[in-house]
Amino acid sequence: MLTTAEALEAVLAATPAFSSEALAVVDATGRVLRQTIRAERDQPPFDRVMMDGIAFAWSDYENGQRKFPIQAMQAAGDEVLTLKSGHCIEIMTGAANPVNANCIVPVERIAVTDASAEIEDDYEVKEGSFIHPRGSDYAQGAHLLTPGKRISPFDIAIIASCGETEVKVATDPVIRVISTGNELVAAGQTIEPHQIRMSNGPAVVSLLESHGYQRSEHDHIVDDIDAMHDQLGQHLEQASVLIVSGGVSMGKADYVPQVLEDLGVDVVFHKISQRPGKPMWLGKGPNDQIVFALPGNPVSALVCCRQYVIPALSKASGEPESPPEFAALASSVSFKPALTCFQPVKLVSNTAGQLLAMPVKTNTSGDFASLSATDGYVELAKDQTDFPAGTPVILHRWNAG
Ligand code: AMP
Ligand code: MG
Repeated sequence: MLTTAEALEAVLAATPAFSSEALAVVDATGRVLRQTIRAERDQPPFDRVMMDGIAFAWSDYENGQRKFPIQAMQAAGDEVLTLKSGHCIEIMTGAANPVNANCIVPVERIAVTDASAEIEDDYEVKEGSFIHPRGSDYAQGAHLLTPGKRISPFDIAIIASCGETEVKVATDPVIRVISTGNELVAAGQTIEPHQIRMSNGPAVVSLLESHGYQRSEHDHIVDDIDAMHDQLGQHLEQASVLIVSGGVSMGKADYVPQVLEDLGVDVVFHKISQRPGKPMWLGKGPNDQIVFALPGNPVSALVCCRQYVIPALSKASGEPESPPEFAALASSVSFKPALTCFQPVKLVSNTAGQLLAMPVKTNTSGDFASLSATDGYVELAKDQTDFPAGTPVILHRWNAG
């Protein structure tokens, strides 16, 4: 049986990179960048005035001049004026610094009388004050964003500032989420006492959405070999990523691995030494499709989705692997089986500024309701049984980027 590290490695190796597409910048938030964004111009592109006030020559001030006849007014967006010796120009935030001016005094520190501006006695002026020099944030051509960045609102500002209307990003994969089980009944349909509501499908679709994957659709297949063959066959034709839940354990109606193999999906692995989620199965379809078959138990399905599916999609999109995050256990945990334990936790912090992971007990791996109070889960090593409070552990947030 694979360890969790081996399983992750196998998942990452088996997932082919997604293609690229050009998108309007306004639609690119949350997508993974596939190009370098270079600065269109120096930033700021001119010596930018930072205060509403007056602009004048420092040399005049140094020579003792405190009162300056107002030559003109220049607002943001106006063409750059040339300052006459001994004068000042009324200037607005965002304007380009006038030629021959090299300091700004804010409007709050001047008095205007008879078309002249006089600087307050006790106000000390410095050369270059309130001028944001051209190119001081970055130079034209600077690499502002590199491929692999998931585009945030700040990145949209950068891309827009470079004058781009379109941007190259990773294609959002077509994903099919498939719930299997005779007992499952979708919301809105009449339910019998011996049946259960289908919750994994909507939850997996939602988890994918929260990580930036918007094109997943959900389907339900009953535990019948022929139906499974037909429906999974169609999904394999239409999607590049399949996420099946249920039907991968040892039960007599657990047909998923057999049907997938009949459809030409080669098994990469079956079972991982972990709890929850031990029965997980992974396969590669005839057209390079990646097929995740997750256990049906809701906690197992969601942990496996977060632990394996999300990193695979992230890598295939071109994101670099993120470094592990650590937290200290807030209370002790004992776990006897020789399996890696993925323990759901709520995060809190202490006054020492430490991040603490508070274990949240799930009754069984079917107890999905208790996950609502959690922020993620921690990884407890399989060769250890007792984990005292304070033990540093790897943390996986449900929604870390
Ligand atoms: P399985 O892996 O098919 O043996 O399912 C394990 C358990 O998870 C069973 O109790 C199922 O009823 C439950 N289960 C399977 N799929 C779902 C689903 N989509 N939503 C909620 N529960 C499920
Ligand atoms: Mg089942």
